Amino acid sequence: MTRKLYEDTPAPLVFSALVTGCIPAKKGYWVNLDQTGFFPEGGGQPCDLGTLNGMEVLDVQLREGEVQHLVSQPLEPGASVEGIIDRERRLDHSQQHTGEHILSGTLHRLFGASNVGFHIGQPYVRMDIDLSLTAAQLEEAEAQANALIQQDLPVKAWYPDPEALESLPYRSKKALEGPVRLVEIPGGDLCACCGTHLERTGMVGIIKIISAENYKGGVRLEVACGGRAIPPIQDQHRQITALSGLLSAKPQQVEQAARRMAGENQALKGQLAQLTGLLIEALAAQAKPGETQLRFCDGLTPDGLRRLCLALAQRSQTLSAAFGPTEEGFSYAISLPGQDVRPLAKELNQRFEGRGGGSPNLCQGRLSLGKPEEIEKFLEESFHADAL
Ligand SMILES: [Zn+2]
Repeated sequence: MTRKLYEDTPAPLVFSALVTGCIPAKKGYWVNLDQTGFFPEGGGQPCDLGTLNGMEVLDVQLREGEVQHLVSQPLEPGASVEGIIDRERRLDHSQQHTGEHILSGTLHRLFGASNVGFHIGQPYVRMDIDLSLTAAQLEEAEAQANALIQQDLPVKAWYPDPEALESLPYRSKKALEGPVRLVEIPGGDLCACCGTHLERTGMVGIIKIISAENYKGGVRLEVACGGRAIPPIQDQHRQITALSGLLSAKPQQVEQAARRMAGENQALKGQLAQLTGLLIEALAAQAKPGETQLRFCDGLTPDGLRRLCLALAQRSQTLSAAFGPTEEGFSYAISLPGQDVRPLAKELNQRFEGRGGGSPNLCQGRLSLGKPEEIEKFLEESFHADAL
């Protein structure tokens, strides 16, 4: 069994050890040591990285009590090595892990919720909670968790003897066998844990819940602690500042302003639909039975063009089409009562580099070429040539 220096308080970032084994791996060699400061991947926490005798450590895994270090070159059993842990990576993982304890302990204390899943991912930490919690509850837990950081409480990690363990009300994600390591934050949390932690809660700096979504009857959180919390807070601040400018509202009032704008937008949509109906009726009223109806009309959506085309066709009972300008040409809707309009629409598309199609009764599409006069002329000629 490797002696786990990473469980010590304080955990060393530089250590000496003896090589106890070295076996070839797919990409390099797995090296065993009599003791190690490298935390192996486990419990939702990625492994430490760093160097062994200057050689990069690529992976660290725990197999049957032995911590194995993946390096590119073999190391001789019996040789002494110096290990150096990547300080920033360790600090980041310890901030996330300690922050998770503080937040989980708080959720447990406030709402009786349990953390049933944990993973230090990128860019955030994932936490699965077994209870469905409201935004207000999460906000309260976040505030109380941050208050525990402000109190700068000690974080204690130890192996209690089995009798003492039995009497302790600790949290655990699963049933545990063998010696149990507990991590305690007085008044904050007591939890079985194998991970690396900070020595005091103050070093976590900040806990920010980034998002929450319903998950398996509970809630899945994305959380950022310490240094990881700053970029998303800055990003949100930047966005709110931009919204504040766009909405001409104070940053504290962007929600109100956005709601008001959405309401106005809805009302305008209603008015537009009403006016579009009136416009279509008025245009269709001008159509004379038996006369082809080709109308170029600004301001109609493809659906408006469709409705205008059908209204014109109903009244004229002959070739009818409605066109609306687009950035590079025209949107169109075309109908030919009593006949299949699709062949004519196909010719139109071919002549003016268009796309589209539809049913025998109505085709819709877009033309990327052509002036109104050219399109009218082409349709009149094609229609009459087909009719002959
Ligand atoms: Zn932990």
